[in-house]
Amino acid sequence: MTTPTHVAVIGGGILGVSTAAHLVRAGARVTLLTEGSWASGASGRSIAWLNSSGDRSAAYHYLRIVGIDRYRSWGAHHPGSERYLRFDGALKWAGPDESFRETFDFERRNGYDAVWVERADIATIAPDVDPDSVAAEGAIFNPGEGWVSMPDLIAALVADAVAAGAIVHENVGRARVDVQDGVAIGVVLADGSRIEADHVVLATGPAVPADLAALGVTIPDATPAAFVLFTDPVDVPVHTVLNTPRVAVRPTPDGRLVLDADWAEQSVRVADDGSLTVPEESVAGLLEEASRVLAGHPTLTASRVGAGLKPIPGDGDPAVGEVPGIRNLSALFTHSGATLGLILGELVAEEIVGGAPSPLLDDFRFARFVGETVSEPVATGAWSPVGED
Ligand SMILES: Cc1cc2nc3c(=O)[nH]c(=O)nc-3n(C[C@H](O)[C@H](O)[C@H](O)COP(=O)(O)OP(=O)(O)OC[C@H]3O[C@@H](n4cnc5c(N)ncnc54)[C@H](O)[C@@H]3O)c2cc1C
Repeated sequence: MTTPTHVAVIGGGILGVSTAAHLVRAGARVTLLTEGSWASGASGRSIAWLNSSGDRSAAYHYLRIVGIDRYRSWGAHHPGSERYLRFDGALKWAGPDESFRETFDFERRNGYDAVWVERADIATIAPDVDPDSVAAEGAIFNPGEGWVSMPDLIAALVADAVAAGAIVHENVGRARVDVQDGVAIGVVLADGSRIEADHVVLATGPAVPADLAALGVTIPDATPAAFVLFTDPVDVPVHTVLNTPRVAVRPTPDGRLVLDADWAEQSVRVADDGSLTVPEESVAGLLEEASRVLAGHPTLTASRVGAGLKPIPGDGDPAVGEVPGIRNLSALFTHSGATLGLILGELVAEEIVGGAPSPLLDDFRFARFVGETVSEPVATGAWSPVGED
């Protein structure tokens, strides 16, 4: 790959914006464009728990740990970021028919910071939790985990990128990659106008598989419909990220909670035209489950449902970097994009500007899909292993 002078990045979620910010920092000329407003996709409706919780491959674990490291650096160098980026720890416990003992052993063996907490000690570690709601065997506390409010992070990354000279455009409608004779040469905007570029980055979240398919590159897709629920502001302090059998909970910078759960995700109805309906019972159920696990059982009310697709590659692992068969095109498509947002943007930018492939991405190339029989996207209730978020 030759050193590009101008890179066009499509997608105003965490992956596109992070890549753009790292590209401009690395010396590239950058144009970043997105269909609607910044963070209007999955990044604006995510639990955004920063973690490498649970059992996963060594390569994926390492990537996530490095991803969390970058957040710590971000926090250290961006005064005020403690409003939207917190490492107050996370607590998880098993459902009635399972145990998290093996998960705990796995995490400890791999050097992942994990503390087993007996029910009787929950109040000292996580005073925001009702100990009676915790599994009888106890819970795992991961002191080094946290959460990020991606709309705030994205705004800060866009501001950094603009200050360093990036050209940025919101609300451009659906753009597409302009490919001529197997080479990406720029972007075609919804109004038919073209932006020429030496390299294009496709970071359109759940749309990546369809956007690549339009260019003749097929990848397996396990993207489900999903939603999070934002509550009205609560008057009890909640600091710990909670991953419980029936609800996940994390705070927001403006004193609300964000809630989700696998069972609630699976209740989303997908119409033939792709529109999503979140049943009222699921909203009420999430509020109830969250109130049940919180100390003092506060009354929670719904402010807003954030529903949409949750990008997940067919085999669950990130798909990142050069797109096979099309020169000068890179793409990013991953679950856990909150945890991986800063590091993947950094690595992809480095590959584009420096020309050398990153060994950290060896296991996560699009090339692993070449020659595979590709399944149709899963509309709802898709693959969702414990602790993957
Ligand atoms: C319910 C839920 C819970 C999650 N929980 C976690 C978690 O706890 N921890 C974690 O690490 N990750 C979590 N994730 C995953 C994480 O949020 C995503 O991986 C990440 O936000 C994806 O970012 P992205 O930039 O790829 O996509 P997006 O945020 O969707 O951004 C893509 C952007 O591209 C724009 N776009 C699309 N097509 C075009 C086009 N043709 N032209 C121009 N613009 C276009 C869209 O409008 C959008 O703004 C969760 C996701 C969901 C949905």
